[in-house]
Amino acid sequence: MKELFRERDFTRVAYFRGVLENLGIATIIRNEYLTCSGLAEIPIPEFFPALCVMDDTDYERAVVIIREHLQSQKSSLVDEEKPCAACGEMNPENFETCWSCGHLFEGS
Ligand SMILES: [Zn+2]
Repeated sequence: MKELFRERDFTRVAYFRGVLENLGIATIIRNEYLTCSGLAEIPIPEFFPALCVMDDTDYERAVVIIREHLQSQKSSLVDEEKPCAACGEMNPENFETCWSCGHLFEGS
């Protein structure tokens, strides 16, 4: 099992889970129950819902799929993007943590 990204917005995590499952990649969401209990209101990244691939060999493919989806969303919504200070990956402006490495963005 390998973590893809974590994000406080559970609907976004669930969205990408659906995308990957549709393409035959088995995933699991960690901390899902914490969201249900309301603990996700606490802005601590460790408690954010985290999307993981069940099989590590699916990881690279899943990253590519997520990146392509983010890019297509960007072109359709013309969202602002910001680079991650830790790994340099571009993230949608409304992401609170880097989808690639989990780095927590300051402020917003
Ligand atoms: Zn990053």
